Amino acid sequence: MDPAHTVVIVGAGQAGGTLAGLLRQQKFPGRVLLVGAESDPPYHRPPLSKKYDGEDYLQWLRPESFYADNDIELRLADPAVGIDRAARTVSLRSGAVLPYGTLVLATGAKPRALPVPGADLPGVLALRTLTDAVALRTAVLADARLAIVGAGYVGLEVAAAARARGCEVTVVEREERVLARVASPELSRILTDSHRARGTRILTGTDVGAVLGDGLRVRGIRLADGTEIDCDTVLVGIGAVPEDNLARDAGLECLAGVVVDAAARTSDPHILAIGDVTHRMHEGLGTLVRLESIPSATEQAKQAAAVITGTAVPPHEVPWFWSDQFDLKMKMAGVLTPGTEAVLRGDPGSGSCALFHLDSEGIPRSVETINAAADFMAGKKFIGSRTRLNRTALADPGTPLREVTQDSITPPAA
Ligand SMILES: Cc1cc2nc3c(=O)[nH]c(=O)nc-3n(C[C@H](O)[C@H](O)[C@H](O)COP(=O)(O)OP(=O)(O)OC[C@H]3O[C@@H](n4cnc5c(N)ncnc54)[C@H](O)[C@@H]3O)c2cc1C
Repeated sequence: MDPAHTVVIVGAGQAGGTLAGLLRQQKFPGRVLLVGAESDPPYHRPPLSKKYDGEDYLQWLRPESFYADNDIELRLADPAVGIDRAARTVSLRSGAVLPYGTLVLATGAKPRALPVPGADLPGVLALRTLTDAVALRTAVLADARLAIVGAGYVGLEVAAAARARGCEVTVVEREERVLARVASPELSRILTDSHRARGTRILTGTDVGAVLGDGLRVRGIRLADGTEIDCDTVLVGIGAVPEDNLARDAGLECLAGVVVDAAARTSDPHILAIGDVTHRMHEGLGTLVRLESIPSATEQAKQAAAVITGTAVPPHEVPWFWSDQFDLKMKMAGVLTPGTEAVLRGDPGSGSCALFHLDSEGIPRSVETINAAADFMAGKKFIGSRTRLNRTALADPGTPLREVTQDSITPPAA
């Protein structure tokens, strides 16, 4: 087939797998190759930190037969190692050289390494892949002592699951509160209380100085102040860094990831990038952002499919995310914005509430909800339509959501 009609997608994860399916769904007639570094076809990563019952954590993105049935050529366990932009080829570790008409980088992100002595000991784990999840499940048995470095969403989800399994869990966070980068202080407080109430030790404002071991296996961690915490396993959850080496080596514009516009286009007209590897332009926010979420990866896969098939790029979506911890089902929309005022709707003690973060005009910029699906849906819509809300009505859970709006300032964005 003419290489001009060949799409090579590098990265067989959430974004890459979604795009391959969309191209066929939209009747793209050319060749589609999906190249993956891992030996597994695309799977869902969210269950890896949330599901600990049986094999629940193993959820394929598509059934096994999907790729052959849809003429999608899967090349697994064979990472791309170089891009020749002039020749429009990608080379793989195996030595194969793939010509492309359009190249899509969907290489995701990798866990940030813990830069302290002992971090390479057996028993120090990260969580990104299915292989990582299997190792963590083997370690997180009842009675195990688990130290989690980093109180981000992945760390707290694992803390909740491990505690529910009866493990002794300590979470160590360098910032003064959990989820400091991604949640409001109010949500951080609610979650800290929930975890502590279930017996998890949460230490904030504390750095890890070293991982301790006997040379063969981890036996604890030492904090910067000298305190030692005994444990059998350490999970490092201090964030992820974009897998953008291929793009950097090929001279594509990169900042914190591959820079793309609102249609997933990089600085090379023949190369698109989608998912966690991107530093993306978000039209709704009017700025470059790095989003690491399934909705963002899916949205960019739709953008790339539109560019490749020559159809209209869909309008931007309000960013959103979810997390499950214990019986708390959380959903967040929008982006935390400095200078907003938090309005609490509902009682955190009841297990269901929402935090609406309103700007000085009363327009919500973000909403964080716990077991409050209707508030999430309404909040996301209000953010997209820039609807001004009445603080007093909003704070009263007895007032229906349709009665909390003041007016609509501009037409809906998505
Ligand atoms: C434990 C965990 C829990 C999560 N929970 C949630 C959640 O609850 N909600 C939510 O919205 N998001 C969640 N996320 C984030 C979400 O999974 C990611 O945002 C999403 O997977 C990003 O998709 P992606 O395709 O960009 O990256 P990935 O899914 O990571 O896929 C990238 C793929 O590219 C491959 N690759 C890298 N380099 C190369 C190369 N050179 N050649 C070939 N292949 C390569 C990688 O091996 C990987 O398979 C979670 C993530 C993790 C790790």
